[in-house]
Amino acid sequence: MTVPQRAWRNTGDGQLIDPTTVVDKVPDFDPRTGDHLWTVITMYRVNPDQWQDATHTPMLDRENLLTITVPGCYYCEKPWTKLLATRRCKGDPR
Ligand SMILES: [Zn+2]
Repeated sequence: MTVPQRAWRNTGDGQLIDPTTVVDKVPDFDPRTGDHLWTVITMYRVNPDQWQDATHTPMLDRENLLTITVPGCYYCEKPWTKLLATRRCKGDPR
């Protein structure tokens, strides 16, 4: 089965997305370093039917943007503060 590679567009950058796989480049938490993983999470409304339309280029832009979170740590799930940034990440949100 051939899976079409589609270019999702976001502010000029393109990401080839295979709709049958999940992109997961999140590194595992390393308790030895205690490094936070600062992220901003965005959510876009998408229409899966458009993935199958070879004439359509799915866009990630203002028109389908739903949310942008404040910067926060992926591991400990706490929002960024100057103080938190100076402390080791505990990794566990509890
Ligand atoms: Zn953290």
